[in-house]
Amino acid sequence: MLRWILPVLGLALVLWLAFKPKTPVFPEKAPPLPETVYFPAEDTPDSFARAEECLRKKDRTCAETEIRSLLTAEPENPFLYLTLGQILFAGENYEQALPAFQNAKKFDAPDSLTDPWVRRAERLLGESEQLGVLRSPHFELLFENGNTLSASDSVFAILENAYDSLCLLWNYYPEKAIGIVLYESPAYEGANPKPEWSSAVYDGKLRIPLRIFDTDAPKDVLIHELSHAFVHELAGGKAPVWLDEGIAQITDGTTVQLDGLPPPPVSLLEKPFTKQQDVETVKALYAYSLAMTGILFRKAESFERMGVFLQQLKSGGSVREILEKDFGTSPELLLKESEN
Ligand SMILES: [Zn+2]
Repeated sequence: MLRWILPVLGLALVLWLAFKPKTPVFPEKAPPLPETVYFPAEDTPDSFARAEECLRKKDRTCAETEIRSLLTAEPENPFLYLTLGQILFAGENYEQALPAFQNAKKFDAPDSLTDPWVRRAERLLGESEQLGVLRSPHFELLFENGNTLSASDSVFAILENAYDSLCLLWNYYPEKAIGIVLYESPAYEGANPKPEWSSAVYDGKLRIPLRIFDTDAPKDVLIHELSHAFVHELAGGKAPVWLDEGIAQITDGTTVQLDGLPPPPVSLLEKPFTKQQDVETVKALYAYSLAMTGILFRKAESFERMGVFLQQLKSGGSVREILEKDFGTSPELLLKESEN
């Protein structure tokens, strides 16, 4: 079994880079390597190279097939189970991912590698079991049991309408239904802590508190959050926060109102705004994000061109390099221009 450990760990790393969830669940330091490994390259099974190729192309189905084929030859290889679990997890198949992680544990993969995945899969699996589900053509609406949403038809109508607009704007049609958790209790608020005034969050699913339906503007919140889902897919989760929030505000119809707010430092514009506790700072972060993104849109001249920018980010391009090369600007210059 030892001869496979090194490449399989490499494969796990490639997988991690290809499909990593928004919140990192691996420990920071590199996984421990076995002390004695001799791995002659010519002995690598064909399916190993094919699995790597599938992961490079981010093709989960083909990666899963190849890893399962490797597992028939090495049914007690913990790292293959770990890799399989990650592939299944990335496809939101928590039901099968959990036993794969448990098998990795059973066959002695280090706890530091398996435990974070087991916990995460258990939590998400528990969540989908406890939530009721309603479906529309492009959405899966999950809500806590006993909480029937009387307005679900109008929620779907708003969402489907916004979905059509966003598909047309970006010329992008998501493959899978978008999951939305409508929650009342804090258990469904997602991974990140956030202050009281932040109403919704996107972490792979849209998470929206039921209380927004008691406000005047549930439609704006739904459209704003749906925009995050599109930008997340288009940019592979690599859009800087100011751009993501700027696009969401352009989409929900917010107008630029700097109201004499001082410009925040670029470093804050690049971190999640929900980490800020000071309300004035947050107002400035949203306002300047919108202003900066508006200027960038004017330079790009179309959603199509912005879509290309987001795709460039997805394929690993650096924000600063693309801004400089394609738009002759930088976050600092955009911020400066916003003040004028
Ligand atoms: Zn937002």
